[in-house]
Amino acid sequence: MSVHAGLPEGVTVFERGWLSSNNVLFAGEQDTALVDTGYVTHAAQTLELVGNALGERPLNRVLNTHLHSDHCGGNAALQERYPALRTLIPPGDAAAVAAWNESVLSYSATGQQCPRYHFDELLEPGTRCVLADSEWEVHAAPGHDPHSIILFHPDSRSLISADALWENGFGVAFPELTGEPSFGEIDATLYLIESLRPRTVIPGHGRVFYDVETALKVARRRLDGLQRDPVKHARHAMKVLMKFKLLELQTVSADAWTSWILNTPYMETIRARFYSDRSLDELCSELLEELANVGAAKIDGDLISNL
Ligand SMILES: [Zn+2]
Repeated sequence: MSVHAGLPEGVTVFERGWLSSNNVLFAGEQDTALVDTGYVTHAAQTLELVGNALGERPLNRVLNTHLHSDHCGGNAALQERYPALRTLIPPGDAAAVAAWNESVLSYSATGQQCPRYHFDELLEPGTRCVLADSEWEVHAAPGHDPHSIILFHPDSRSLISADALWENGFGVAFPELTGEPSFGEIDATLYLIESLRPRTVIPGHGRVFYDVETALKVARRRLDGLQRDPVKHARHAMKVLMKFKLLELQTVSADAWTSWILNTPYMETIRARFYSDRSLDELCSELLEELANVGAAKIDGDLISNL
């Protein structure tokens, strides 16, 4: 937990890592709110972080920047702990959440888990919301996720950038993997961020950062490279999904691993689109070896572990 220079009063950032997104806690005179809630396997830790910070006060609202499992996996646990909690989500996924359509919501496609939660209100781009007694702007930030929003506080020029901009890149362009162009949207979102001229950025993952100019430069260079080589992006995306699963499982038998790959529709979708001449099994073994070679995984006989 840390309070950072440059952020408005009442804002605390829980820097979580890569399996769970960062969480941003707002404690104002009027109410309390949490932006993004981490992955389900870290839900107990999320409850503890929030409970320790708020003490006797309840959590009044949860806001999700987007509905990937690492950003809203703690929603259900928080809704249970704080029954009067109101949950706000971006409008694009509202119907899928209401009907709990796990394939539209990406949880079954990516082979990830997310317990069912409900929502109460929508975070409409172009509106403002009050967090810790001051107004934050809601902006659409499609690209990594078509329905993602980011939150900007004009007075302090603080930005909650979700997975649209990290200190060293941005999240996978998921729509591209299924044939929906999104590199252009990522580019437009980077321009939007530049136009807001943020001074402090709270990314979805990684530490709070201030050198926004350099981060934008890095992101654009990376985007350029991916646009020039979409197969490289597809390969990277498969490795990201694999590494995420290893972070969740820590250690898994080779059989269980193979079964996860075969039961994760995204892996086959990406293979069919970008590697039609390869078998999924062979391709994934090669990618796992690449992860092991860079020290991100360990293959030890029948066991595969996160490193
Ligand atoms: Zn995401």
